[in-house]
Amino acid sequence: MSQEPFSAVDVIATKRDGGTLSDAAVDWVVDAYTRGVVAEEQMAALAMAILLRGMSIPETLRWTEAMLASGRRLELGDVGAPTVDKHSTGGVGDKITLPLAPLVAACGAAVPQLSGRGLGHTGGTLDKLETIPGFTTTLDTAAIRAQLRSVGAVVCAAGQDLAPADRKLYALRDVTATVESVPLIASSIMSKKLAEGTSALVLDVKVGSGAFMKDLETATRLAQTMVDIGTGAGVATVALLTDMDTPLGRTAGNALEVAESVEVLAGGGPPDVVALTVALAEQMLSLVGRDGEDPAAALADGRAMDRWRALVAAQGGDPDAALPAAVHRDVVTATRTGVVTRLDAYAVGVAAWRLGAGRSRKEDPVSAGAGVVWHVRPGEQVASGSPLFTLHADEPARFAAARAALVDAVSVAAVGPGGTARPLVLGRVG
Ligand code: URA
Repeated sequence: MSQEPFSAVDVIATKRDGGTLSDAAVDWVVDAYTRGVVAEEQMAALAMAILLRGMSIPETLRWTEAMLASGRRLELGDVGAPTVDKHSTGGVGDKITLPLAPLVAACGAAVPQLSGRGLGHTGGTLDKLETIPGFTTTLDTAAIRAQLRSVGAVVCAAGQDLAPADRKLYALRDVTATVESVPLIASSIMSKKLAEGTSALVLDVKVGSGAFMKDLETATRLAQTMVDIGTGAGVATVALLTDMDTPLGRTAGNALEVAESVEVLAGGGPPDVVALTVALAEQMLSLVGRDGEDPAAALADGRAMDRWRALVAAQGGDPDAALPAAVHRDVVTATRTGVVTRLDAYAVGVAAWRLGAGRSRKEDPVSAGAGVVWHVRPGEQVASGSPLFTLHADEPARFAAARAALVDAVSVAAVGPGGTARPLVLGRVG
């Protein structure tokens, strides 16, 4: 029997007592857990000790690198353009990747976007793209590299061999109430992003009711930790802190969000989606030395749309095909006349999820057409009896639960709020 250099019990006790784990202890515990030598209950205890005691930035960077080392890292050095990606911590109506990846490609950078599926009330980019007839999200490394060279952007599923330690640990955290640890969230996200081999990264850290991070202080701490990890690992990294009290755009739901993204690529679409897409594109282009590019112009003049169509076609999709639509609709109307002062992102996300757009367990299927369209946003006028939401579902039995989620989703005042609305971009780190 091979001798292990550490004892899991000693590592757990060190963190339980507020100590710092040595580099060698971090490397060992992550590797030994991946190999099955550290038991699930031991890693659960360690995750709880980390949640309660925290980890320093050097410990967190080492933890991230150990998770990265548990798998493979894509080699993207020769794709003909500087690589830059974006990661969002997840929100409601957050379809930004869809217009953003082709837009940044149109401005001369290469975007290797390895994405995930939605879980809970936030949607997943892959679920959205898979509503396009023919579109595949399963690509091997050779295909990823070829598409980065030919189109400049690829959006596909992360392979099982990227940061496998994170996959195992995330599933354990999910059932042991240890997801909400800033160093564990930061290392989880960053191990996957570093594994995709990008040279630069922009993080969109969402703040508000529809986000993981409800307050600006915790979100800023998460953003700073991820920026420190990225920079420490040699990847140019910045973070924007952006509002998620209000959902983005006008739609939440897989095909509904693809349609809205195509509107943005056609030079229209909701102003907040356009503004955030351009703001993130500017950060991405700046990180790879392409400050001279004008992403707003590339959206308006159709260059981003051309890249979108090329991306969809390269991944087997038909950019001209009709998107799937839900079979049934139900309209929720306003009970008061006045000005909308609040539209709650979490409530909208839960409603979309209950309509079938999201999943409760990762093996659940999602409905392509289900979701919510909102007809008002904060600052807009509404009349009693006019539509607030249109609900889309394949089964009408889903409407009651979605309506229940939306009961307090909208606040209406007789007169406007008077002050200025919370800005979309709340801060920048890095
Ligand atoms: N997303 C991740 O990938 N990991 C976390 O820990 C939380 C959100």
